[in-house]
Amino acid sequence: MSQTAQSAEKFDTIVVGAGPAGLSAAYTLAKAGLKVAVVERGDFPGSKNVMGGVLYRQPTEEVFPEFWRTAPLERVLIEQGAWVLTEKAAFKFGHRHQAFNEEPYNAFTVLRARFDKWSAQQVRDAGALIIPETVVESPIMDGEKVIGVRTGRPDGDLYADVVIAADGVNSLLAQAAGLRPEIDPDQVAVAVKEVIALPREVIESRFNLTGDQGAAIEMYADASWGMVGTGFIYTNKESLSVGCGALLSQLIERGVTPNDLLEHMKAHPAVAPLLEGGETREYLAHLIPEGGLRGMPRLSTHGMLVVGDAAMLVNSMHREGSNLAIISGKFAAQAVLRAREWGDYSAESLNYYDQLVRDSFIYKDLYKYRNMSRFFERHPEFFALYPDLLNEAAREMLTVDGKSKRSKQRAIFWDALRKRSLVRMALDFYGAWRSVA
Ligand SMILES: Cc1cc2nc3c(=O)[nH]c(=O)nc-3n(C[C@H](O)[C@H](O)[C@H](O)COP(=O)(O)OP(=O)(O)OC[C@H]3O[C@@H](n4cnc5c(N)ncnc54)[C@H](O)[C@@H]3O)c2cc1C
Repeated sequence: MSQTAQSAEKFDTIVVGAGPAGLSAAYTLAKAGLKVAVVERGDFPGSKNVMGGVLYRQPTEEVFPEFWRTAPLERVLIEQGAWVLTEKAAFKFGHRHQAFNEEPYNAFTVLRARFDKWSAQQVRDAGALIIPETVVESPIMDGEKVIGVRTGRPDGDLYADVVIAADGVNSLLAQAAGLRPEIDPDQVAVAVKEVIALPREVIESRFNLTGDQGAAIEMYADASWGMVGTGFIYTNKESLSVGCGALLSQLIERGVTPNDLLEHMKAHPAVAPLLEGGETREYLAHLIPEGGLRGMPRLSTHGMLVVGDAAMLVNSMHREGSNLAIISGKFAAQAVLRAREWGDYSAESLNYYDQLVRDSFIYKDLYKYRNMSRFFERHPEFFALYPDLLNEAAREMLTVDGKSKRSKQRAIFWDALRKRSLVRMALDFYGAWRSVA
């Protein structure tokens, strides 16, 4: 180790990135008495962070017990809907349960700028040092081992026994340490989100809510203009989080910007009335890892672990990312604590973290959906033809025009067959079922 390295301040652990993954790791380690520094490029934790806004209670509580009593949450999620959109129609499914409105709750809506700030305060109170407005430029290596990070500040080299890369989807650290290649356009979605202010009572009346109850709507097909992607509306106390996204490769191929996509979705006849009179307060854009298990790299190397989006841990089928981030952060902290006990921060020792992830719901869920993204990418009919058939079938059955219901069913059937053969349809749905079963 160089002279400078020996004289610079050394931490037990440096965490890069103060999102849910980094803050979960830092909190667990600081609580265990380690000397921890969290380096964050934003003005404050949360200032750079984008999320639709559904935060799950159980994984968050594994790190921050009973957080809902003090954290700045928006609404308690009691209703979730799924809308299949075509240009003029929406086929709606949904579920609402009063049990979701009772402690300990299932999920909340949050605004990350406020929630991350609160989490960061818990991390500070646990004894960690948070260094904002500081960009990590590269890992500092000693041979194959990561021994610290180089920041953009003068004299900004920081050293530690171990570095946790929680620097999000573009993870410069994971790439520099050779764990991940540069991101592939068909393994990442570009998403945009607006926070649209509306009076509380307007939100409650439009979404059939009272008090702090909240609702979430996921939208498919025309919401992403027929590309692999989704749209969403989540209710906050006095605003709506409204967004959508699609695979980067398909946006490029079709020459569509994420902003075009969002404007298209907001103008949909089933969506526009929910947003009417609202005032856009924030506009945010971000990438979402969509590679699933195919995109997941090795999670640790000598002196470094990779967590959350940096490790591409997102279950896009269920719009879960923050929970995988929080739990992977906690697992990384557990692996660091064991490595410290053994005095061994080698790749072999830190591989315990990979094992914890493999044995958990994170790996099992990513494995379950491992073929999903590729399947839907190769079957655009699920984002155009089938939504259209579904909505037109519903329209036909609901139209009273003197024709018998049986003749309507026959018309629907033959119309579908004209557009796709029975064999093709059977193969499509069998393939879709296999990709999510
Ligand atoms: C539009 C959208 C909607 C979403 N909706 C949901 C949802 O409803 N529910 C859900 O669970 N998940 C959702 N997700 C996914 C979720 O937001 C992520 O999975 C989650 O934020 C990952 O957390 P993280 O800590 O790994 O990364 P991030 O939250 O991205 O945090 C990374 C942090 O690292 C910092 N950083 C990056 N590079 C550097 C550097 N070089 N130096 C210093 N700091 C750096 C960043 O500023 C940031 O604070 C959504 C994502 C998007 C984009």
